[in-house]
Amino acid sequence: GANAEKHGFQAEVKQLLQLMIHSMYSNKEVFARELISNASDALDTLRFEGLKNDALFEGDSELQIWIEQDKDARTVSICDNGIGMTRDQVMDRLGTIAKSGTRAFLDSLSGDEKKDAKLIGQFGVGFYSAFIVADEVVVDTRRGGEATGVRWISDGGGEYTLEEIDKPQRGTTVTLHLREGEEEFTESQRLRHLVKTYSDHIGFPIKMLEEIDEADNEDDEAPKEAGWEQVNRGAPLWAEPKATLNDEDYAEFYKHSCHDYEDPLTWTHNKVEGSQEYTNLLYIPKRAPFDLFDPNGKAHGVKLYVQRVFIMDDADKLMPRYLRFVKGVIDSNDLPLNVSREILQNNRLLDKIRAGSVKKVLGLIESMAKDEEEPEKFKTFANEFGTVLKEGVVEDYENQARIAKLLRFKTTTDETADPGVSLDTYIERMAEGQEKIYYITADTMAEAKHSPHLEIFKKKGIEVLLLTDRVDEWVMAHMTEYEGKEFASVAKGALDLGDAESEEEKEQQKKLEEESSDLVGRIKEALGERVNEVRVTHRLTDSPACLVADEHGMSAHLERILKEAGQ
Ligand code: ADP
Ligand code: MG
Repeated sequence: GANAEKHGFQAEVKQLLQLMIHSMYSNKEVFARELISNASDALDTLRFEGLKNDALFEGDSELQIWIEQDKDARTVSICDNGIGMTRDQVMDRLGTIAKSGTRAFLDSLSGDEKKDAKLIGQFGVGFYSAFIVADEVVVDTRRGGEATGVRWISDGGGEYTLEEIDKPQRGTTVTLHLREGEEEFTESQRLRHLVKTYSDHIGFPIKMLEEIDEADNEDDEAPKEAGWEQVNRGAPLWAEPKATLNDEDYAEFYKHSCHDYEDPLTWTHNKVEGSQEYTNLLYIPKRAPFDLFDPNGKAHGVKLYVQRVFIMDDADKLMPRYLRFVKGVIDSNDLPLNVSREILQNNRLLDKIRAGSVKKVLGLIESMAKDEEEPEKFKTFANEFGTVLKEGVVEDYENQARIAKLLRFKTTTDETADPGVSLDTYIERMAEGQEKIYYITADTMAEAKHSPHLEIFKKKGIEVLLLTDRVDEWVMAHMTEYEGKEFASVAKGALDLGDAESEEEKEQQKKLEEESSDLVGRIKEALGERVNEVRVTHRLTDSPACLVADEHGMSAHLERILKEAGQ
């Protein structure tokens, strides 16, 4: 235009732009998220400032975002009717980097694309990410209440131009002139998918033109005009007050955003305030996914949002492995919006959010376990996810006792209990004088039930946990006690039934040992190196002999598992 003025970018911007274009290419679609989130920020700002200054709305308070693409011109525009920018603001915000430490950051870049991409991600890509896919960016903007607008144009080199424009609508339109080869971003479907993936729950409607079937319009005298339609949900469900939401709302949102075709089993929705502000909406599904135990299966259950902007769905940092079946959303108000995976690797804020969310999930499971009106729910849970939950005993030492309380076991007293016997119930019915919680591990229930190790326990009426899950050996190696009661394998070490044995029995045992010392000696000789020790036992009532593992050694069962695994 006639009044166009050239300006140079701050040196740092120039440098960052070059690096960004080269290093961030593999993450090029971030531009959509960045520009939509800027539009949403501008709407948030207008909404906030408008509270004090109604004139800013200019009579138009329907806040929204539009995305328009033009295949022929190879452009895509992100438009909002948010607060907009004045000329000075444009120069300040789209020509400089105000962040402290920018210089040091740029100096730390190495020229190695991969490393730099990480660092740039950490730093925050922001508006300049537009240049990853565009070789020219035009920003038309007018601040609410101002008479004239301003146009900013740059090719991402060293300069930008500014000119005054007439702009009837308040707010900002960012138009990307896409580089050759980036035509995909002029496709309606591709853009809709990006919006759905990254911005579905932005609290403002994002609208695109309807897709009109050309064939339908062919012989029409008056061809149909495409209207604007909303492509995102537009209201983040989790941010709405609990009291306004019903079960159907929660179930619909779950199916919509957690990729399940069934209703969830249960959920917990919390707004946490205080030193940390975040909201979580966490669901437990009705059914375990088929790859729950696939070590390569990628759990992506919980999505992280920052101020309603989707950040990532890499569940690892949001939920521990043993809760990998949990789905839903955590939305933080405190994490920086441009937070990257790398930052999240070691982030104390996130650790706190995660710890708080884990407590909520455990609380949710506890309330199912206590719910006498709907016992089916906990049964479903225990049968689908009980085995995974067990991993928590090892993985989450801090919550070990809480997790252990939620586990359910088949036992010699109650083989058919569904979902099983709790450790609390076990302790309640311990035999007089019994001090330990006894268990046996085996590959199958039949093998466990018929083990000769159980004979003495049957005789004494002592209940034994029957553990047949793959993880049980590993879990029991980490769970040494529950409520002050030690765990003891019936297949390991010398059998100490504590006070459950009478003095008389102990006497008898001693006598037997003396009498048999000769026989024991001969058996030892015959077996030689193959055993550590031979001893007289009273653990057997029917079988003549059994193999026992050393107290601190591997059980026969674990030894077999390791052998199978090729160890
Ligand atoms: P950030 O969003 O982290 O502040 P960006 O690089 O994304 O950084 O944006 C820089 C600044 O430009 C924003 O802080 C905002 O002031 C301004 N800006 C960008 N896009 C818009 C927009 N659509 N409307 C109003 N201001 C915007
Ligand atoms: Mg931004």
